[in-house]
Amino acid sequence: DRLIAPEAREREDAQDRAIRPKSLAEYVGQPTVRDQMSIFLEAALGRGEPLDHTLIFGPPGLGKTTLATIIANEMGVSLKTTSGPVLEKAGDIAALMTNLEPGDVLFIDEIHRLSPYVEEVLYPAMEDYQLDIMIGEGPAARSIKLDLPPFTLVGATTRAGLLTSPLRDRFGIVQRLEFYQVADLARIVARSAQILGIGIDEAGATEVARRARGTPRIANRLLRRVRDFAEVRADGNITAEVADQALDMLSVDHRGFDHQDRRLLLAMIEKFDGGPVGVDSLAAAISEERGTIEDVLEPYLIQQGYMVRTPRGRMVTRNAYLHFGLPAATPSTA
Ligand code: ADP
Repeated sequence: DRLIAPEAREREDAQDRAIRPKSLAEYVGQPTVRDQMSIFLEAALGRGEPLDHTLIFGPPGLGKTTLATIIANEMGVSLKTTSGPVLEKAGDIAALMTNLEPGDVLFIDEIHRLSPYVEEVLYPAMEDYQLDIMIGEGPAARSIKLDLPPFTLVGATTRAGLLTSPLRDRFGIVQRLEFYQVADLARIVARSAQILGIGIDEAGATEVARRARGTPRIANRLLRRVRDFAEVRADGNITAEVADQALDMLSVDHRGFDHQDRRLLLAMIEKFDGGPVGVDSLAAAISEERGTIEDVLEPYLIQQGYMVRTPRGRMVTRNAYLHFGLPAATPSTA
């Protein structure tokens, strides 16, 4: 596994839970999202209504699940969590929804991976709090309608484009999470360090933040690995120098790119002349899944200006050549 893979593959442990923000006030960065959500939440609370259905999109590890948790906390209701791929049949989602208390938040992660049957059940539930499902099979089959309590559906997805438009249209609130600024990530690192009792100075927090791919989950994970290094190779405190040495050892370079990022950029340069190259050819060249390239690797490399997407495929930019100390390619005339 990649050290800085932003997916939450491992189970969340007690430390992860301790550092996850619980209120909007603790949610660092994302000023637009925070400002808007605080108004929508206050207005819904004032009217005594559940919050409108909310869709959150952004690359893994940027705080979608955290925001869903915060919405439930701020509304003073419970959160029920599930994810697109585990809801196979209409009955799976029906069981979940009939167990909701009025006002509850139902969080569906990876909502772009819902089966069409489940989506069909969701539409009337979202619009009119109506559950409309078929039970039984063949001649004995009949459709039943049930009233559901008013609730808030919070859906999370890595890319908005993956959602069907009838589903997307049923969300009253749509929030897009951006990669975090270094200063915001440094605040997240300092906050986590304080909660976990890790000694770190400001320069140390900034160094970890600079190399965290704009992603809070990665920042927190790097913090814990750098702490190990500080305890074994230094006096336990994380300074910029200790962080730098630890991150070098972990193969996280000065731009925060890891082994897979570098493999992707180098493959484009060395095997495809800098591009343009299709994402499937790239996936084959680095033995990585296409979805991982699209959801995890390239969003950050594009945002940082190391590669671009063109109608003819992916291309590296000059920055990529410079990063590896290679002469920048001149456009081929052949
Ligand atoms: P996602 O659901 O988008 O994959 P998560 O919500 O699980 O991401 O966030 C990953 C971790 O990063 C969380 O456990 C949390 O500790 C931290 N985190 C995310 N967003 C923020 C934020 N805005 N402020 C502080 N910590 C954050």
